[in-house]
Amino acid sequence: MELLSGDDLEGFRAATRAWLEANCPAAMRTPARSADDDVWGGRAAVFPSDDARVWLERMGARGFTAPTWPREYGGAGLTAEQARVLDEELRSLGCRAALKSFGVWMLGPVLLQYGTEAQKLAFLPPTARGELRWCQGYSEPAAGSDLASLQTRAVLDGDAYVVDGQKVWTSHADKADWMFCLVRTDPAAPKHEGISFLLIDMRSPGVSTRPIRLISGASPFCEAFFDGVRVPAAQLVGRVNGGWAVAKALLEHERALISRMRDAAFGEDESLESIAKRYLGTVDGALADPVLRDRIAQASMDSLCNSLTLRRSAEGARSGRPPGAETSMFKLYGTELNKRRLELIVEIEGFRGVGVEGSEFSADELASTRAWLRSRANSIEGGSSEIQLNIIARRVLGLPE
Ligand SMILES: Cc1cc2nc3c(=O)[nH]c(=O)nc-3n(C[C@H](O)[C@H](O)[C@H](O)COP(=O)(O)OP(=O)(O)OC[C@H]3O[C@@H](n4cnc5c(N)ncnc54)[C@H](O)[C@@H]3O)c2cc1C
Repeated sequence: MELLSGDDLEGFRAATRAWLEANCPAAMRTPARSADDDVWGGRAAVFPSDDARVWLERMGARGFTAPTWPREYGGAGLTAEQARVLDEELRSLGCRAALKSFGVWMLGPVLLQYGTEAQKLAFLPPTARGELRWCQGYSEPAAGSDLASLQTRAVLDGDAYVVDGQKVWTSHADKADWMFCLVRTDPAAPKHEGISFLLIDMRSPGVSTRPIRLISGASPFCEAFFDGVRVPAAQLVGRVNGGWAVAKALLEHERALISRMRDAAFGEDESLESIAKRYLGTVDGALADPVLRDRIAQASMDSLCNSLTLRRSAEGARSGRPPGAETSMFKLYGTELNKRRLELIVEIEGFRGVGVEGSEFSADELASTRAWLRSRANSIEGGSSEIQLNIIARRVLGLPE
């Protein structure tokens, strides 16, 4: 299919809107109400409906699931500005995400930067079409914040690495087709210099996973075990023992993503003020409780400032500059803000805000409780808030150790 016409941004906007109106099924223009509506793709993809399947197929064929990737790698070859316009049009039409993908969000950008041509051609197009589902094998039982202490070993044997060890907190490992994984290839080197970045097919003999159950009742992540797993050496990304640079670049993309992420399942389509008025009523058109009014006003202003700062930073990166250490500031602030916002919502809902299941609670109330519980993890995953503060101190502000 030809690129949408319109060299200027407004022409591009009009063409994009027309394409979306023609191609996004009506049911995909309603808000997703729960995680069951999400589409993660993969070899064993589960679609909540035929419309969801069609929507992914069309968006994938158009390259719109990975808008800024080059077309030869499954993207749409859009500039950052065009991608922003696409995003705005998707939002204004109320389109659901066609695909959720760690492969698109995290692996793709670093594969474009560090991958060989063969790796890009093999992995990027099927990832953009949602045919491959990825998981992230970084954390280990004794290597979370101190990630560089990881112990999973990879030893070269002929044309393959033999991998032994364990990962933990690996989101969706039991459903993923492939893992991007950090392994220790030189145990004698200083810890940051003996790490490599490997792509591992989860069907390989010797790979097993065990789901971990969370406070929210869901079980979105796993322990993953490697027992003599043979991984072709051609699946090593970047330099042998140079995996830390790839790992850090990926984390910056991950943190940029988490900082933009709201627990979309709840609270985005209605303002805090409106939720409060609905639950608590008003006196002369205003909330009676001045302290609550103040907290809501503060949270709304902080949220607006955060959105504008993110927008300014995104526009500053128009040149295509990859995200840097400043993503730690956005990750820290965005996740703490999201926790505060959800905490306010459950507080406003009173006892109705603590229901996890039961027909006496509305679907929105159940969703808000789950989103509140889930938000606690936002400031841990991708590196905890304390670790972001350390990075900001050292790499952004240049403070001494
Ligand atoms: C929902 C969720 C999904 C996740 N998904 C994945 C995934 O897909 N793949 C993956 O690899 N990992 C994943 N993780 C793991 C995540 O990256 C780690 O939990 C995180 O890096 C923290 O590591 P830890 O749990 O080992 O905590 P620890 O490192 O043991 O930290 C414990 C506490 O000590 C504090 N602390 C530690 N070191 C310092 C320090 N130097 N200075 C100040 N405070 C410090 C931390 O801030 C934290 O409060 C996920 C986590 C969550 C919650």
